[in-house]
Formats: sequence, structure tokens, C-alpha cells
Amino acid sequence: MTFDPQSIRAEFAILSRRIGDRPLVYLDSAASAQKPEIVIQAMTDLMRHSYANVHRGLHTLANETTELYENARESIARFIGAASAEVVFTRGATEALNLVAAGLGAGMSEGDEILLTEMEHHANIVPWHFLRERKGVVLRFAPIHEDGALDLEALERMISPRTRVVSLVHMSNVLGTVNPVAKVAALARAAGAVTVVDACQSVVHAPLDVAALGADFVAFSGHKLYGPTGIGVLWGRSERLSALPPWQGGGEMIDRVDFDHITYADPPLRFEAGTPAIIEAIGLGAAVKWLEGLDRPAIAAHEHALYEAAAAGLSGINGARILGTTRDKGAILSFTLEGAHAHDVAQLLDRYGVAVRAGAHCAEPLMRRLGVSSSLRASFALYNTRQEVDAFLDALDRTRTFFT
Ligand code: PMP
Repeated sequence: MTFDPQSIRAEFAILSRRIGDRPLVYLDSAASAQKPEIVIQAMTDLMRHSYANVHRGLHTLANETTELYENARESIARFIGAASAEVVFTRGATEALNLVAAGLGAGMSEGDEILLTEMEHHANIVPWHFLRERKGVVLRFAPIHEDGALDLEALERMISPRTRVVSLVHMSNVLGTVNPVAKVAALARAAGAVTVVDACQSVVHAPLDVAALGADFVAFSGHKLYGPTGIGVLWGRSERLSALPPWQGGGEMIDRVDFDHITYADPPLRFEAGTPAIIEAIGLGAAVKWLEGLDRPAIAAHEHALYEAAAAGLSGINGARILGTTRDKGAILSFTLEGAHAHDVAQLLDRYGVAVRAGAHCAEPLMRRLGVSSSLRASFALYNTRQEVDAFLDALDRTRTFFT
């Protein structure tokens, strides 16, 4: 297997776009990644040649589409080292986390504790707040160190006999910190708590093996993984998934419905009420198969080298502060520039064709903890190049003249 960012770029038509008279420099893949031709093709081929609803038809197209949909589930299961029946298709990581929180919350009572960390995305905070409001559960947040690493000892001390769930992000979308999830899961298991992992960012950058992770539930979205929007995955350990009550009610998630009685289908269909995102699931299946055919360690090294180059260049810019400097981190560079609002800088960078994210990154508690209201974020994907990092640094340098 080989990896060459230039030849990969040829698979992404959008990357040859221009923004005004500048080539596009897309450094916003942590928000959503671009899609390779093979994913677009899989989705359009389906709609052109084989499309029908899944699971309920007796005709050829329905059977073909069902097979493709279930094949996509199998591809994703293989991709994360899981069994097919443990892979639930959701609308995205957000829906997956809401599903788990609602399901686990059904068995909770006042005073039960949910342990999160200070670096969670809102998608892994708000569903637990619902349980705080509705059930009186207590939310606790394990602190981070100044460099953005998780304070594992503090987390361990915060696990109590009332802890029902430990839910944490695998790789922070702001700090880039990669958390020692296997250690956390072992601590949680020893205390009889369930571990939930938000793998939205991590699944993109390194092979994810749910067995090695030791967690009970893992959630991620398709659109950051070079797949389409509208599709995500909830992986659940078989016995944990089976113990969860249904999430939404409707077609396909039942075993039998009567006027006065109902029984539910087994997972994963129990959690896939109604017509699922068929086209998108098949698109995501194509994306993970495509990724499996690439040299992922080489990609991770490439992305990390881009991060290192960008971080080194940034430290030469006056007034720049990088958020998240721990060594165990992925290719996400969040930073602030003294005297400049992140939104203004992002808009100026856009004039140079450079697309970055600016704001609170759906992590307001973390931003408060860091003492900032917003930050800029450049994130690196397999199709980014060293020349793009230089273009980014050069554009940043030019924007500085507006603020000094
Ligand atoms: N968790 C993390 C760490 C994320 O980066 C995101 C996306 N910004 C989410 C959860 C939510 O993902 P989605 O919006 O695709 O449901």
C-alpha cells in the first residue's frame, strides 16, 4: 500500500476549485470532510440502477438495495472490528449519543452520576443535561491540564458508587487531545459504570478497534469520515445494545404490533425506525472500504507532519496562542490571535482561499475553561499538502497587518 496526497487529491474534484482568484485551501475537515469520487459514485449508481426501499420488498430492486444496505453495515462493522448486529445506523454522532443517553437514562434515578470531561462537544453534554433536568441525575466533569490533556487521576477520583456512565470524547475537536479511552473504560468497568465514547474525530485519523477500546458504546458521524451527511453509527456491545429500550417508534423496529400489545425487533433494527438513510449508509460503506484500501499509518503520519509544520509556523506569529499542546494529539490546530476576533480572521483568510473554522466549536464549557470566547481552528485531512500549510501561514501573516 502506498499513500500519495497528490494522487489522492485527484479523487476530490472540489479540491481544484478556486475561491475568487485563489486556489481553495480547505482546512475545515474536522467540521466536515470532502467526499472522494468513489463515494459520490456509489450513491448516484444506487439511485440510477438499483434503488428501492429496504427490508420490506419482495421485488428485485428492493432485494438488491437491502443487500447493498446490509453490506454497508458489514463494511462498517469490519472497519471498527465489530459484529454487524452491533452497528446501528443513525443520523449522525449527535443522534447516536442522544439515543444512548435516552436509553441508559430510562433506568436512572435521582442522584445517579454521569461523568463527562471538560473537553466534550455539546453533542456529548446536552443529552446528559436532559437527564439532569428530567431525572435529577448529577453531571460531573473531569478536569483537563493546562496543555489540554485529560487529568486521568482526577477522573479516577471522581468515579463514585453512584457513577452510572462515563462518557468522553476520544479525540477533542478543539484541542486535538487523544484521550486514554481504554484506561478510562477499565476504571469505569471496575466501578460497574457504562463507558460511552464519542469517536467522531478519532475514527477519521487512526484505525478504531472497538474491542481494544473496551467501551460499551461508540458513536461517530459519516460526514467527517469522507462519507455523506445524514448518516452516523452507534456501535454497542451486544449485551448492552440488547438491554437498551427502543429509541423511536415506527416501521421496521418492531417484532409484532397489536392493538393492545407490542414486541420489538432485536438490535440493530430496534433502533432504526422508519425508512433509514439508505443512500447515505451505502455512501458511508463505500467511504470506509475506500479508507481500508489506503495506508492509514502513512496517512496519520502525513496529517501529523502537516499539524507540526502549521504549529511551528504559528508559534512565529506574534500574539498567537495554541489551544491544546499535549503530545498525544491529532491533526487539529486551534488557536487565538491576540487583539483579533476569530470570526474576523476567518473571513480575511477566506479572501486568500483558506477555509478554517472560527467560533466556540460546539464546546462552550471548554472555551470558558480555557478563558476564551472563540478560537480559530485549522484541521488537516489526508488530502492536505505542505504547500497548503504554507499558504495558510502566509495568509495568516497577511491578516495580522489588519490587527496590529
Ligand atoms: N463530537 C465531536 C467531537 C464532533 O467534532 C462533532 C461534530 N462537530 C460531533 C460530536 C457531532 O457530530 P454531528 O454534528 O455530525 O452529529
